[in-house]
Amino acid sequence: MSDILDRIEKQGILTPVLREEFLKEYGNRGMRALAAVGERRVKRYLDFTVVESSTREYVVDEDICVCGDSLFRNRECWHILAVRLARATRSFTEDPSWYQELWTVPEG
Ligand SMILES: [Zn+2]
Repeated sequence: MSDILDRIEKQGILTPVLREEFLKEYGNRGMRALAAVGERRVKRYLDFTVVESSTREYVVDEDICVCGDSLFRNRECWHILAVRLARATRSFTEDPSWYQELWTVPEG
């Protein structure tokens, strides 16, 4: 975990100063992560953690995400950042169901 996320976790909330630093460190990805957490789009199911974007849902498991950024470019995508930020600020949206059971295969 990076230093800034560590400090956010210790603080438990995102102060304006920490928010600023987070954005400085992660730029555009940080912005999207912040928006997702702010809009409660980081959901914790019994089996998976899922980040909702405007177009689809991304399953994140520890440091691995299903998106191309994470799988093929091997970098920390904004979904992973959003999960870390939600963990640090305790702002997961809890859903006590099994995500796997809700999973529907998109058509096409
Ligand atoms: Zn991702």
